This record gives sequence, C-alpha cells and structure tokens, in this order.
Amino acid sequence: MQFDDKDISRLLAAVKFASEKHKFQKRKDKQGSPYINHPIKVAELIWNKGEVRDIDVIIAALLHDTVEDTDTSIEEIKKLFGDKVALYVSEVTDDKKLQKEERKKLQIKHSPNISHGAKQVKFGDKISNISDIAESPPCNWDFDRRRQYLEWSNNVVKGLRGSNDKLEAIFDDCLTKSEIFLDNEYKNTK
Ligand code: ZN
Repeated sequence: MQFDDKDISRLLAAVKFASEKHKFQKRKDKQGSPYINHPIKVAELIWNKGEVRDIDVIIAALLHDTVEDTDTSIEEIKKLFGDKVALYVSEVTDDKKLQKEERKKLQIKHSPNISHGAKQVKFGDKISNISDIAESPPCNWDFDRRRQYLEWSNNVVKGLRGSNDKLEAIFDDCLTKSEIFLDNEYKNTK
C-alpha cells in the first residue's frame, strides 16, 4: 500500500501529540521508563510484525492510551485525527469511572465485539504489556499478581483471535516465554 504526504504528516502529528500528552508519565517499571515508549512500541509492533497497513490503525496505536491516561478527550482526537482514529481509540479506552475489577471484566466481555482496527491495537497493547510483565514488571507486583495478569490478558485475547494470525502467534509465544520466565524466577527464590 502506498502512503502519501498527508498520511506521514498525520502519523508524525500523532507521535508529537502523544509525546506531549504523556510527557510527565512514566511506566511502572523499576527504571521508570518514559510512558511514550509503550505506544510507540505498540505502533511499531503492529506495523512491522503484524503487517497492519491501515494508517488510521497505526495512528490509533500511537494515541491508544491518551484518553484513558491523560486529559485528552475523544472529541479532541476526532477533531485532529478523524472519526476512524477516534473510534478505534474509544474502543480500547476503559471507563475510568468504573472500579478496576469491573473494567477488567468488561475488557474480556467487549474484546470480541470491537472493530477489526481496534482489535489490532489491542493485540499490540497486550503483547507489549505481557512482555513487560516478565522482563520489566511494575516494581510492587508479586508473582501471583503477575501470573494473574498473564491469565487475564489471555482471556482478553480470546476475543481478538482470528483478526491477525501474525500477532496471534507473537502473543502466544510471548505468553509462553513470560510464563517460563516467571516460573524460573519463582524457583530461584525458593
Ligand atoms: Zn497501552
């Protein structure tokens, strides 16, 4: 697929927008990595490994946590990046007014019903998060919490299966590796 000047402009505008919105945020890992590393990783992963060639989906991947985790509104996304991007971002945004457990349950319930574009973003997000859980976990998470997180991610991904074979294979591989990694780490503490 060919991309034109306008597509590249929108893509770069999304990188800039997301980096500004997330500029004071850090990941929960020990090193406190810059938050923006995560959406960039998701966009790069679904483009390079998932072979997603829809520019609106790639832009949505860059913006996917701005509404949930910053002061960004869906209207703002719609105005700047268009209806499709706004739809994908809204479909992967949790309602922060709900309790955490409820939000987690809803992700499992909703994942089979979101659009094909949003499924690609969610796949990339879950792959990025489960690989982090093993290799650079949030510093206050114990083994059980990390194991439960892997299990929950797998349940959300059940609803995404069939939407991208390549991302599916990467997720499964990553999940197995993360489980082995956690088991080994657990054994080493015994
Ligand atoms: Zn994310």
